[in-house]
Amino acid sequence: VRAQVMELINSPGIDYDMIGGLDDVLKEVIESVELPLVEPELFEKIGIEPPTGVLMYGAPGTGKTLIAKAVASRANATFIRMSGSDLVQKFVGEGARLVKDVFQMARDKSPSILFIDEIDAVGGMRTHDGTTGSAEVNRTMLQLLAEMDGFDATRNVKVIAATNRIDLLDPALLRPGRFDRVIEVPLPDEKGRFEIFKIHTRKMNMAEDVDFEKLAKMTNGLSGADIKIITKEAGMFVLRRRGDSIKMQDLLDAYEKVVSEEEEQTSPYS
Ligand code: ATP
Repeated sequence: VRAQVMELINSPGIDYDMIGGLDDVLKEVIESVELPLVEPELFEKIGIEPPTGVLMYGAPGTGKTLIAKAVASRANATFIRMSGSDLVQKFVGEGARLVKDVFQMARDKSPSILFIDEIDAVGGMRTHDGTTGSAEVNRTMLQLLAEMDGFDATRNVKVIAATNRIDLLDPALLRPGRFDRVIEVPLPDEKGRFEIFKIHTRKMNMAEDVDFEKLAKMTNGLSGADIKIITKEAGMFVLRRRGDSIKMQDLLDAYEKVVSEEEEQTSPYS
């Protein structure tokens, strides 16, 4: 399979303790993805089938990719990532075959987790007039459904898909035996933001005046990815003034910078 369409990591080395504020989400993912890979006999004993695929949805930068990598690490599974938008934009005419190839690879490299990012690009809803984006995208989608349906649930492959736009998703994807577990990945609450600040500053030299509680309070509405950028920016401020530790003021300045840049990006006048 062509390099850019997918990323393959043997065991990504992400630990659950690198994820802040998503305890409930993790519980669900462990139950529906990790357990069936690590202890399939639990399901067999009860006589139930683990979900074939899991769909995670939520705002950008909330940790969906991170979670998929963490489960793969914990289950000692190969992590294979494929981007739905790359499939339909960069590989026009090849989508259906690439989907086939990537599922074959997931079986060859099992136990494995196949992570399909931006699945809405492939499995977007048909438009009002009944037409879809293109026949090509349709073929890619049909191949994806065929692969999901042909999946033997006992095989050591789990599919995790992610989207920022669940409202755009074709309901056919959510039928039983396909993505039959749907999990919301929310923006972090105050406690979650506190944890995420701690996680991303773990290896940084923090001054005593840093008030993580205050930072968590003032960052309502920001994602985990935003918080990571704030901590990195703060580190750069310290570097520029040749300091040796990160002070509260550095984090406040970084916060201002990140928030004003985001506003610029979302402003209709920029
Ligand atoms: P997208 O929908 O844009 O693909 P995503 O939900 O997959 O985003 P990630 O790629 O997992 O988001 O997050 C980007 C980065 O932000 C992560 O590598 C991680 O460093 C940080 N991050 C996001 N959420 C969290 C979190 N809950 N805890 C710790 N770090 C986080």
